[in-house]
Amino acid sequence: MHAVIEQARNEGRVVLTEIESKELLGQSGINVNDTRLASSKPETASISEQLGFPVVLKIASPDIVHKSDAGGVRTGLETTQQVGQAYDEILKAASQKYPKASVHGISVQKMAAPGVEVIIGMSKDAQFGPVLMFGLGGVWVEILEDFSLRVIPVTRRDVREMIKEIKGYKMLTGYRGMPPVDEAKLEDMLLSVADFVTKYPVVKELDLNPVIADSEGAIAVDARIVLEDSK
Ligand code: ADP
Ligand code: MG
Repeated sequence: MHAVIEQARNEGRVVLTEIESKELLGQSGINVNDTRLASSKPETASISEQLGFPVVLKIASPDIVHKSDAGGVRTGLETTQQVGQAYDEILKAASQKYPKASVHGISVQKMAAPGVEVIIGMSKDAQFGPVLMFGLGGVWVEILEDFSLRVIPVTRRDVREMIKEIKGYKMLTGYRGMPPVDEAKLEDMLLSVADFVTKYPVVKELDLNPVIADSEGAIAVDARIVLEDSK
């Protein structure tokens, strides 16, 4: 068993944090951004300086799944001073909304270049087993319910169709002067995610939300994995 899964199990948890999820996914060849855990304000500052500004800070807690709803995400931080202030504000907001949450620290990562935000997910259907999901980020999936699904295992042809059949597909082909996203790289990521969940049947749910896609590739900047209940 992977050390990350073992640790969660030992702590009686089924939810992996963003950092744990990215560690597991990154080691399976899925393109995730370099994300580090900081346990103090000075450490948050020094990691930010090492990674290079602008950075993003997020609350790192297995008990806080929707980080931005809890005031737990600050993007576009340009200076050490802004990082210090965001550090205090995130911890304050989180402790107000989730006073009982166990907090591992703050995750630090570089701000990704702008692109189109998409979602890649997996959930298990009682009848069909693992199902792969693709959609556009933001309001598209939730409000417009615009997403595509395929039962795993999938072929390259399946994932190519998944990308092309969403209603918002035009967002990927270059709009408002943006170059089209690299669809082959998105296909690669969908295929790697399908392989990943086949390799780890203990993964019950997976969400890469968002994956930021542009003309050069695709990278997951948020990740959440839920494990099966231990038996
Ligand atoms: P949550 O989904 O738990 O609220 P996210 O980690 O997805 O938190 O962050 C919220 C939003 O912040 C994302 O949907 C994305 O728009 C933006 N964001 C997060 N991380 C980055 C990053 N590294 N670079 C650019 N934007 C980011
Ligand atoms: Mg997210």
